[in-house]
This record gives sequence, structure tokens and C-alpha cells, in this order.
Amino acid sequence: MKGVLSVEDFRGIGDVVTHGSPLLTITAPVVVIDSREVKGGELFVALKGERTDGHCYVSNVFQQGASWVMVSREWYEKEGSPQPPEGKGFIVTDDPVSGLQQLASCYRKTFSIPVVAIGGSNGKTTTKEMVASVLATGFTVQMSQGNRNNHLGVPLTLLQLRPDTGIAVVEVGINHPGEMEELTAIARPTHGLLTNIGHEHLEFLIDLDGVAAAETQLFTYLQESGGTAFVNGDDSRLRAAGEALEGPVIYGTADLPGRICRARDISVCRDGRISFVLCSADRTEPVTLNFTGKHNVINAVAAAAVGLHFGLPLSRIREGLESLVPAPGWKRLEVMDSGGLRILNDTYNANSDSMRLAIDALCDLPCEGKRIAVLGDMLELGAAGDVEHESIGRYIHGSRVDLLYVYGEKARLICRESPGSCQGHFSTHEELLEALLEGVHDGDAILFKGSRGMKLERVVESLINTR
Ligand code: ATP
Ligand code: MG
Repeated sequence: MKGVLSVEDFRGIGDVVTHGSPLLTITAPVVVIDSREVKGGELFVALKGERTDGHCYVSNVFQQGASWVMVSREWYEKEGSPQPPEGKGFIVTDDPVSGLQQLASCYRKTFSIPVVAIGGSNGKTTTKEMVASVLATGFTVQMSQGNRNNHLGVPLTLLQLRPDTGIAVVEVGINHPGEMEELTAIARPTHGLLTNIGHEHLEFLIDLDGVAAAETQLFTYLQESGGTAFVNGDDSRLRAAGEALEGPVIYGTADLPGRICRARDISVCRDGRISFVLCSADRTEPVTLNFTGKHNVINAVAAAAVGLHFGLPLSRIREGLESLVPAPGWKRLEVMDSGGLRILNDTYNANSDSMRLAIDALCDLPCEGKRIAVLGDMLELGAAGDVEHESIGRYIHGSRVDLLYVYGEKARLICRESPGSCQGHFSTHEELLEALLEGVHDGDAILFKGSRGMKLERVVESLINTR
């Protein structure tokens, strides 16, 4: 039954140990992994995290009202095979992570609704938000919260589906070969979109061909299950993969044959927002996004392609795209005005593709003063790390960036390739902040970007608070 897990499902996952007569079904959405979310009637899955182990909270969650707790066999036997409290049950499994995935998979199967998976190297979360916002103009939509896109995030997203959900939009993120197959087996998408193929997780995926091979497993799944693939025709590797598919929905900014929609007349408004004309068949609709960075146009066109495929008119699609406002703390090219200074906070993460696009966004931004880039290390680039940092340096050198500040060991290489603009290399946030306080002035536009581990958002915060 839609939105219901039963004790039969639990028996397929592990040993069921009950005391008295527990509830035989769990109705959505009540599977949780955080003990603080237990209010009554839930199934709590005890997972071992980096900082804490869910097994420490087993008696607490029963007291708080959880009906069922899934635990590892190792813990259960070490504890002397305890009985659950009256009216409650344990599911004892070899591996609670895989137990959680199996629960999600059983639960997903109770829904015969479209599930749109969003994968790709860059822009998954942004595209997911845009797709959901567009679809919400005509359907009851549920989407992954934040960036929940991995082996835990995908099952948790599915377990949140409600009986009234009309379409689910699920972000799928991978960092090694084989992961897409695991995620599609759980999510069973009926539709799938890959944003692009770029320099992501090269420590495991090696090179762009490796990334493409791993990501396009989403298309393979859809092909084999009779689903629909949305193909970004601007991306040569995805276009090639799309050619092997039956009936793909093609979109792009360029005017490709057979495409469902495209964008033209892309421009940057005075406040940095991006506008363009969305075209489909012989109809057009002007759109202004609440985002900066021209690369967001392809994300928006992807969302439009999904909306059109599900039968929404262009006017609704425009409404969905224009109503989406990045939440505070978005940190993906987030425009923050502080006094006379315009900050582009892109500290969420970085690889060499998104770094180049962020530099483009800085250069496209209307600005009376100087254009300043503050760049930190790009981690997770594996053996390609040095070459990619050097190439960013050369990119800066050939761009309209006036001043460059770099932070982190690898970022030295950026500086070395762009000696004219480089104001220095910094090893601590404090030194960097001090230099910026001297070097920036009202009217300047300043981009902050680096991998998440570089925590450059702290420098943004201090700069805003100190100036
Ligand atoms: P993650 O792998 O962390 O889940 P993601 O794929 O979900 O990332 P977003 O969080 O949407 O991507 O954006 C991350 C970075 O990628 C931001 O710096 C953003 O500016 C950049 N970005 C967004 N869209 C694109 C795109 N279409 N092409 C390249 N870079 C993009
Ligand atoms: Mg994401």
C-alpha cells in the first residue's frame, strides 16, 4: 500500500524481535536516523557516524515513543540479545546502512509516481531546486532536502515521500564507479537528468571519460527500465551518450535539432541577476533568475525541459523559475552587498569547472571598482590537482580580474601562473582577512571560492563584520 512499510518488509531485511503486539505497519514518513526527531510511532535506524553511534540512543528512542529500532547484529549480540519494551520491536540486521537502503527500496516500490533523478558533476542541487520549483506550479512535489544525495541521503529522501506526493525530485551524487548503479537500484527513477560531465572526484573517477562512464549509468538504467532521459545537448559527452538512447528529451542553450527548449539573449542585469529568453517550439518567454552566473541558464533550461515534458506551459515554467530565491547561506555564487562592496560568495565548494565559471561570473558582473578574486585550494582533484590549479592561474591571467588573493597550499600554483594580479599567498584566514581589509574598496566586486574544506565563508563573514 502507498506509503506503508509492513513487518513483512522488515523480515526481508533482518531478524524481527518483538515483545507483545507491536504495530505491524509504519505509515510515512516516519523512518528516522536522528534520535532527536523521534516523537512517537517511528522506526529508528541506528547508524554509526563519524561523531556518534545511533546504537547509544536505543533505549532513549524507545522511551521517546519509537515503535521499531533497526540495530546491527554485532551490537545486539554484544548487548546480550535484549528484548524490546512491550509493544515494540527490533529489526536486527548485519548492516543497518544496507538495511536503511532496503527499507527505502521497499517503500519506494509502494509509489507509482514519476521519480526524477538529478545527477551530473556540477549544479545538481541548483538544478534540483529549479526543477522542483517549476514542477510545483502544477504538481505536489517532494525533493531531496539540501544536498542529501548519497548512499544515505537518497534512501532518506525516498523515505520522506508522502501518500499525496505527485512527483519526487531526487538528487543523486556519486564519487566512485558503481555508485550510480547502487543509487538507481534504490530510487528506481522513471526520469533522469545529468547536469554535465566535469572535473569531479577525480581521485576515484580518474578523468572526464571515467566521470562520464560512471554518471551515464543513470541513462543506462533508464534505457533498460523504459524511463526518460533528459540530455544536455551543450555537453559533448552527454550529447554522445544521448545518441545511443531511445527517445531522449534534448535541451540546451544552443539551437540543437529536436531539442524541446533552448535559451537565447542571455544577459546580466545591473544587480547581477541573469536574464534570458526561453524558447520552445514557436513560443518564447522572458525569464529573469534570482541567481547570478551565466551557467545557471543551462540549469534553468534543464528545469524548463522537465516542466515542458510534464505538460506545463512556458508561462508556468517562467513563474516557477522566477519564484525561486536562493536561501540565505546558499553559498553558490550568492550575491551579498556589504556597504559599497559586492561579494560573490561561492564558498560552497570548488572544482576547476565551477572555478572558471565563477571567474566568468565575476567578470560579467557590472562593477565600478576593481574585480577581485579570492581563491582557495580545490581539493578532490587527485593526480590532476597541480595541472588544474595552474590552468586556473592562466585563466585568471587572461581574464578581467584585477586583483588575486590565494589561500592554501595548492592555490600557490594559481598565483604562480598569474603573477601580474596576485597580491599574495596566505596560509591563515587572519592574514588573508588583514590583506583584504587593506586591499578592497567600495565599488569593488569580490569573489570568494574554494573547496568546502578551505572554509572561506569564515573570511566572508569576518570581512562583512569588520569593514
Ligand atoms: P555537490 O556535488 O556538492 O552536490 P552540486 O552538483 O549539487 O554539488 P551545486 O551545489 O548546485 O552543485 O553547485 C555547486 C557549484 O557548482 C557552485 O559553485 C555553482 O556555482 C557551480 N555550478 C552550478 N551550476 C553549474 C553548472 N551548470 N556548470 C558548472 N558549475 C555549476
Ligand atoms: Mg549537491
